[in-house]
Amino acid sequence: MPQIIPHLDFYDFEEMLTSSQKMMSATLRSYLSTKVEKRIPEFFEREEFPIDCVPELGALGVLGANLDGYGLPGVDSISYGLLMRELERCDSGLRSFGSVQGALVMYPIHAFGSEEQKEEWLPKLGQGTAIGCFGLTEADGGSDPSAMKTRCEDKGDHYLLNGSKMWITNGNLADVAVVWAKLGDGIRGFVVPMKTEGVTARRMKGKMSLRASVTSELYFDKVKLPKSALLPKSEGLKSALACLSQARYGIAWGALGAAESCFTEALDYVKDRILFAKPLASFQLIQKKLATMATDITQAQLLALRLGQLKDSGKLHFAQISMAKQANVAMALRTARECRDILGANGIMLEYKSMRHMCNLESVSTYEGTNDIHSLIVGAHLTGIPAFS
Ligand SMILES: Cc1cc2nc3c(=O)[nH]c(=O)nc-3n(C[C@H](O)[C@H](O)[C@H](O)COP(=O)(O)OP(=O)(O)OC[C@H]3O[C@@H](n4cnc5c(N)ncnc54)[C@H](O)[C@@H]3O)c2cc1C
Repeated sequence: MPQIIPHLDFYDFEEMLTSSQKMMSATLRSYLSTKVEKRIPEFFEREEFPIDCVPELGALGVLGANLDGYGLPGVDSISYGLLMRELERCDSGLRSFGSVQGALVMYPIHAFGSEEQKEEWLPKLGQGTAIGCFGLTEADGGSDPSAMKTRCEDKGDHYLLNGSKMWITNGNLADVAVVWAKLGDGIRGFVVPMKTEGVTARRMKGKMSLRASVTSELYFDKVKLPKSALLPKSEGLKSALACLSQARYGIAWGALGAAESCFTEALDYVKDRILFAKPLASFQLIQKKLATMATDITQAQLLALRLGQLKDSGKLHFAQISMAKQANVAMALRTARECRDILGANGIMLEYKSMRHMCNLESVSTYEGTNDIHSLIVGAHLTGIPAFS
């Protein structure tokens, strides 16, 4: 069995994984560390996504890995989580790509799509020969997607789509968008090929976070869609939120990868850095920081694993996903900041990872439900009183 990765494993987390889970994780780790990771700072600096790795991720069975049929791997939820963790160990931009492609585009087509939509898109998206994006957020309704203004009108033999979306990951790279729009009094999902007349994507440049990920605005100007574009089994906002639950599950795992990457970097650094004639690692304050981070990461590993077990047993509640997304991302952000500090001035340089992870995690904390929104979801579950509005 190959060594899975050199990372913190204080409670024999690996021992609870099956050999196929370890193998899948190690294979992706090996690919990313040899072919992608070294190039990430360059992509981050240029605000570009490493698009050449998409077909390779497809060949490794990473895209929509937990979905079955249509040539997809159909792996268990823990394997899927471990893949997200490896992607984010490399960069949150890469995990964002994996989450959007698998959880936000392939999942809704798989769960709510027609047979025709599934056959047309799922194999290509799974192989990485097509790229997808997910359009829910609008300028006036981030945390409140029900305020969306994008509208689809039923014109009898076709639909007419008008509106705009913003903050859309992969927007300018995508071949197809899953777009959520008002239809009559409800909200429905539509499969919109990006080449359709009237669809345009505009890059949002100047992000200080998730720079190795493409973010765009989407515009829909009198877009004529065939009746077959509707996701027939999508039912209101709850279907869009079901996609978000899938993605948030992956983020709870992904955040572990980012935190572990920072921790490993800081641990190596303090062993080598000599100050006051001895290694930085020998100072009590540093050891206290390392012990706190190791405890936080270990707790997050166990939380993610239990979340995966609940998901596979069909018992997972969305409030449990919210708790894990909120807790693990907050933990990763704290850890990244602490590691950046431990690295001193070097910590602000792109050649070190911690600050890049820290900047990325600011977005991860905001998207897929902000840190506060997840607290409100858990709060509503505990008290029975929704406090959103
Ligand atoms: C890099 C990036 C990529 C993204 N990719 C996508 C994508 O692919 N597809 C997509 O559809 N969206 C995407 N998003 C959008 C993302 O989901 C939204 O940014 C997120 O939902 C928050 O919305 P907002 O930014 O409008 O913040 P707001 O909703 O305006 O929130 C601002 C602040 O108010 C707080 N707040 C909001 N409501 C309440 C309340 N009821 N009580 C107390 N506090 C509250 C929030 O916690 C936050 O602190 C992306 C965002 C980013 C940054």
